Amino acid sequence: MPAIDKIIADHDQLTGWRRDIHAHPELGFDETRTSDFVAQELEGFGVEVTRGIGKTGLVGRLRAGNSPRTIGLRADMDCLPILEANTFDHRSKNAGKMHACGHDGHTTMLLGAAKYLAATKNFDGTVHFIFQPAEEGLGGAEAMLADGLFERFPCDAIFGMHNRPGLAVGKFQIRPGAMMAGGAFFDINITGVGAHGARPEAGIDPVIVGAHIATALQTIVSRNVRPTDTAVLSVTQIHGGDAYNVIPEKAVLRGTARCFSELTMGLISSRMTRIAEGIASGFGAKAETDFRVLFPPLVNHTDEVQFIADCAADVVGEANVNRNANPVMASEDFAIMLKRVPGAYIQIGNGDGEGACEVHNSGYDFNDSALPLGASLFARLVEKRLDRLTAA
Ligand SMILES: [Zn+2]
Ligand SMILES: [Zn+2]
Repeated sequence: MPAIDKIIADHDQLTGWRRDIHAHPELGFDETRTSDFVAQELEGFGVEVTRGIGKTGLVGRLRAGNSPRTIGLRADMDCLPILEANTFDHRSKNAGKMHACGHDGHTTMLLGAAKYLAATKNFDGTVHFIFQPAEEGLGGAEAMLADGLFERFPCDAIFGMHNRPGLAVGKFQIRPGAMMAGGAFFDINITGVGAHGARPEAGIDPVIVGAHIATALQTIVSRNVRPTDTAVLSVTQIHGGDAYNVIPEKAVLRGTARCFSELTMGLISSRMTRIAEGIASGFGAKAETDFRVLFPPLVNHTDEVQFIADCAADVVGEANVNRNANPVMASEDFAIMLKRVPGAYIQIGNGDGEGACEVHNSGYDFNDSALPLGASLFARLVEKRLDRLTAA
């Protein structure tokens, strides 16, 4: 079964939706036009809509038959604060805002699946279409959970997808277990004693302390993290002082850490705190570490990976599904939902020629030729998981 015919027949309409959303990008928790549009379309298909789950988020509920089985499908709706460089007709009309991560395409694919499923109802159970706000680091998934997402809309399993530039259209890739990194930001605030630049003996220099800490932090990945694990620790900012001849009182180091297990993230956090405090105290200064985990690692559940990969193979053929893709260091807040409910997150090809421009780049665009494939995969997940033949 390749891409579903009825969805292919809607390709022009899907392209129209996608380009309209692309032209009207909205930042996290500000997706009012987008969620109005989604809600209106869903209601038009006969899907029951609940607004205000995580502020601008919404959930559509579609039921067929009597089975108590449920499935959740999730798409994200927010854009990025980027000035779009593209010049095509559907370029952003909101200066400084841009759908540079393809969430316009994700929203459209889920909407396309909802239209098809509402018209055909070839399943037995309940589908929850989850349209999430604020994926780009603003906590949209958490906001939906705080509003009782899975209590109010129970899901036996949950699935999502992200476009992947560089992967050909018509291909999918996934891996079981950790697929995307967890991410943290940190601040290390160092306090010494200010002095004249010519009289260091009268002060405690926080710049020197910071330099030692920045160097010593490099031993966490090389000496503390198990070599078979993957982790990155980057000090990306060092600030301190305003004058040539003044030893400042304070300095600050900032940066990011990425890794694939919560255990490793905990190790990085505790080693960082200890190294910073120990080095500062050795110099007679003080260091306070603020380590904030923004995203947990995205960990796919093995059974659900096999299921979504089988469904993807139904749509594009087994040869076009890579079931053992490389993990990536980027993060994704769907990880938070996957900690609560079994599920899987798959990557859909955005093109290796056209569509190969990386996400978060001002020249990026979602590839419309992928729309029927992603919508078909969402639909297939429902028809296979809530199969009428195996219904109780
Ligand atoms: Zn993004
Ligand atoms: Zn994204």
